[in-house]
Amino acid sequence: MCGIVAYIGSQQAMPLLLEGLKRLEYRGYDSAGMAVTNEQGQLQITKCQGRVSVLEERLGQGAGLPGTSGIAHTRWATHGRPSDTNAHPHRDDESERGSGIALVHNGIIENYASLRTWLEERGHTFTSETDTEVLVMLISELFDPANGIDLEKAVQAALREVTGAYAIAVVCEHEPDVLVCARKGSPLMIGIGQGEYIVASDPSAIIAHTGQAFALEDYQVARLTRTAFRTSTLDNVCVSPKILNLELELQEIELGEYPHYMLKEIFEQPRSLRNTLRGRLDTIEGRVVLGGLSDFIPNLVRAGRIIMLGQGTALHAAMIGEYLIEDLAKIPTEVEYASEFRYRNPIIEDRTVVIAISQSGETADTIAALQEAKDRGAITLGAVNVVGSSISRMTDAGVYLRVGPEIGVASTKAFLGQVMVLTLISLFIGRRRFLSAETVSQYLRHLETVPDLIERVLEQSDAIRETTARYVDRENWLFLGRGTNYPVAMEGALKLKEISYIHAEGMPAAEMKHGPIALINDGMPAVFVATRNSQYDKVISNMHEVRARGGRIIAVATEGDQDITAHADDTFYVPDLPEALQPLLTTVPLQLMAYHAAVLRGHDVDKPRNLAKSVTVE
Ligand code: GLU
Repeated sequence: MCGIVAYIGSQQAMPLLLEGLKRLEYRGYDSAGMAVTNEQGQLQITKCQGRVSVLEERLGQGAGLPGTSGIAHTRWATHGRPSDTNAHPHRDDESERGSGIALVHNGIIENYASLRTWLEERGHTFTSETDTEVLVMLISELFDPANGIDLEKAVQAALREVTGAYAIAVVCEHEPDVLVCARKGSPLMIGIGQGEYIVASDPSAIIAHTGQAFALEDYQVARLTRTAFRTSTLDNVCVSPKILNLELELQEIELGEYPHYMLKEIFEQPRSLRNTLRGRLDTIEGRVVLGGLSDFIPNLVRAGRIIMLGQGTALHAAMIGEYLIEDLAKIPTEVEYASEFRYRNPIIEDRTVVIAISQSGETADTIAALQEAKDRGAITLGAVNVVGSSISRMTDAGVYLRVGPEIGVASTKAFLGQVMVLTLISLFIGRRRFLSAETVSQYLRHLETVPDLIERVLEQSDAIRETTARYVDRENWLFLGRGTNYPVAMEGALKLKEISYIHAEGMPAAEMKHGPIALINDGMPAVFVATRNSQYDKVISNMHEVRARGGRIIAVATEGDQDITAHADDTFYVPDLPEALQPLLTTVPLQLMAYHAAVLRGHDVDKPRNLAKSVTVE
């Protein structure tokens, strides 16, 4: 959520910062801005409401911002509406005491109100409604070079006073050759180049410049000059970071021939899932190979209960995981919204294993819940995509999704990656409890075919667009399924809401008649996941209940099921798979429906209204 890019080196900062902002724009896009230090050491700031393209235009109208160091930001507003004034960078007040400090911030300063009152009493004048401005004023208040409090020390001292979450980058006219960054709770990475550093909220803005980088840890501050860096704690104790080689390739984060990242990522799913599976299936021995879990096998096999934590799409993946773990590994499993789990005094017994699910590994709610579970003695696992992310570092063990960077705000390939990883974990534990090698082998042979089968589903994209076009004007949709396809229905509804702004509800098909059926009117679309499985006949009955009230049925059915056409107005087909594995296919037509609906309604699919990728605030 929100993108930070900062640079110090020998190149012109402005074009580089703009390019970085474009790569990070999916993290937040209600306003954008940058501050560049010129040769005289003065700060030049341009910022505005709107997309990075608006900022670019604005910069193009003037002489640009010459200089070789600077900070930049795309905002996802938490405090104060999107506006020019609330856009970052923020700077300290221009009054006599102004020290020429500017800052960009990702996160929330929770105690901003009391700090603001205190700073106002000390004569500071605020111009924005943001929590961020408090931080820049506080740094300015504490900055006192005559008494040895330089920018780095002022930042450390200010951060000792704040509660909440932050990633920040700070520059100062008194120290034009210094860039200071810090983090707590929001990711920040520092790329190391030749005589230059590039700082960003995620590696996609770094890899075009350098493959060497390190991630700041919570409560760490980095002081960068053109030739050296120093990392320290808030108490100014030096720490040495672990330098990583970024494995990301530029083409993985470029659009290529696709009009949108979301469509690219939907079509990438066969390849992504091949990566998820690579080296993890031993079909001959009937074993799943998950190196990341090997030290915790006894804990998993003897687990008394599994709790899965997530938010949004990850929660839906967890709901599918609940069916799978109970079915295949026979361990009682619960799914919890991480945000609720954390604050409701949860019970963690001996032998409780907690699995945190998150694409970015930085989801603030999930991190907080995970910490709660750790404090209460749970064994913790992660199912995350971003290597080295906070959740992957916090958990005892884990399994990476390996689906590659996901840029589309509406998650698609990460969702299937999460479902696949949870399937693997279920079989990994199940084999050590009740499943025979032969049974596991059969599942694994099916899993191997999934990427090819998804390709077959993707071939229907044009047909799905045509069908969607017939319903796209309707403002209310239902998504219904049973068993493992019930969370798929929830996910289908969420996708449609997120990007097309159509109101949609997903629920168990049987639940509909307990209330939501009152919504059904003439022509209302109801999407049923109605594949051949143990509940097929029941789902068909539910379809009739909708039809009898004038609703229109769109079915996702099993290839070869001719009977379904007697019950549905429109049908998309997926190849047959064992019931437990069907979500890996039934999800795909719903992703395509949501995508086409949004495009047909003229929305910006990759930057949906009010949303941003990677929710790093609670
Ligand atoms: N809380 C800050 C604001 O509302 C930062 C938001 C962000 O992370 O973009 O300006």
